[in-house]
Amino acid sequence: MSKPATHTAPTAGWRWDHSYSRLPDRLYARVHPTPVRSPSLAILNRDLADLLGLNASVLEHPENTDWFVGNVLPAGSDPMAQAYAGHQYGHLTNLGDGRAILLGKHLTPHGNRVDIQLKGPGRTPFSRGGDGRAALGPMLREYIVSEAMHALGIPTTRSLAVAATGELVFREEPLPGAVLTRVAASHIRVGTFEWAAARDDRESLEALANHTRHRHYPSLADAENPHLAFLNVAVERQSELVSRWLLVGFVHGVMNTDNMALSGETIDYGPCAFMDAYDPGTVFSSIDHQGRYAYAKQPRIAQWNLARFAETLLPLLHPEESKALDLANAAIDSFDDRFKQHWLAGMRAKLGLFNQETEDHTLIEQLLDWMRKQKADFTNTFRQLSMGSSIPTETPVDPEFSVWHQRWQHRLSRQPQSLDQVLAQMRRHNPVVIPRNHQVEEALATATKHRDLALVHRLLKALSNPFDESPDNAEYRSPAPPSGGVYRTFCGT
Ligand code: AMP
Ligand code: MG
Repeated sequence: MSKPATHTAPTAGWRWDHSYSRLPDRLYARVHPTPVRSPSLAILNRDLADLLGLNASVLEHPENTDWFVGNVLPAGSDPMAQAYAGHQYGHLTNLGDGRAILLGKHLTPHGNRVDIQLKGPGRTPFSRGGDGRAALGPMLREYIVSEAMHALGIPTTRSLAVAATGELVFREEPLPGAVLTRVAASHIRVGTFEWAAARDDRESLEALANHTRHRHYPSLADAENPHLAFLNVAVERQSELVSRWLLVGFVHGVMNTDNMALSGETIDYGPCAFMDAYDPGTVFSSIDHQGRYAYAKQPRIAQWNLARFAETLLPLLHPEESKALDLANAAIDSFDDRFKQHWLAGMRAKLGLFNQETEDHTLIEQLLDWMRKQKADFTNTFRQLSMGSSIPTETPVDPEFSVWHQRWQHRLSRQPQSLDQVLAQMRRHNPVVIPRNHQVEEALATATKHRDLALVHRLLKALSNPFDESPDNAEYRSPAPPSGGVYRTFCGT
């Protein structure tokens, strides 16, 4: 006799595995999201849900939209706001999750552990004067740009969903409110360490250092000096990360120490943007008057932030202060070389160079210098070179470019790879499509004004496969028309 079929409703697949709450309670505050009136799911990242072992159909069910605004907490979650400080434009301030609540750590089918965080779910003890809320436009913007970065192969936090709250948030004007569900290796920042260090809280500091190292760099437990090894790996990861930003023309825009994650992921997509015309001084943020966070300054700022991180670790690095300082300085000094190596390797790949010659740096700088003078589009110049075309822009060939091009051709001839191999490598490193500002803005305008996400979906599809020319990205390859004026971004409140 056959058994009667048993029907159990599919579950979402949350597998919580918390650990942050075992740290000293000075590092967080228990808090629940503030319910909202009429939530609706704006967008769900089905591919990411699959990767996380979550059932997208269950997540998408209208009954479960409450999860994505915080009206209902998934069973087993452990909501908290994390404490952190941060150097903002050079000045140390107490911050913390003022408009974010961590639901906890989820275990994926591949054995990875990721933070699930709601951004915009209402006030927390760290909200200071703020409302703890976020607007739909900026949350969709973070969704688009973070997913674009992921598709470009750059370490980043990711976006699982954006849900509208059905309520207004008041900025310069009333805007539709929304909550972003952010997925990250962790949300531990340089600023998290600064919080503990500023309080001379050695116990929290040590617990936090051990927790973060164990979580992101478990193999370092066997190092002779694990705290020093942690500092060095942090320097290595950030030097690589920032080189990757530069190689695709990304400007983070607000590299405060609270926006630097020790996992080595790009975090906090506020005033970030990709540059069109190559200009090392590119700044998009409306409040970055001094150009502190300009495109070409990002390596120096990353190093500055890492120095603040190293300072927090001093008491753990060595019992003697002067020895601790020497170790920290050596680690921070290593940033320059590490960054140069990553950047040079990335630029060689962009130009189809497989081997190394000492003159490569000059060859690269000459091209960049020409691009700066021509205001050449960063993305399209490299892509056109990858198509084997000898003329990288529609502008008439000028003698300076011809000289450079000949030099590059000679350089290519001094390696054994065929032209096909060269171009294939270049196409893997030079994207056809990036999230261009005018196109992101157009998609966001339609989404926020008319609640029509068709353009957002189309843009996301194009950005999901950035290295292949395809009909999906044909309309997304052009820079903004020249009349556009200077593009300005605002901190994502
Ligand atoms: P951000 O510029 O997004 O990196 O945020 C810097 C700090 O301001 C963090 O501590 C945030 O939690 C806090 N913050 C930003 N927006 C709000 C808001 N609307 N309400 C409360 N806190 C906020
Ligand atoms: Mg931030």
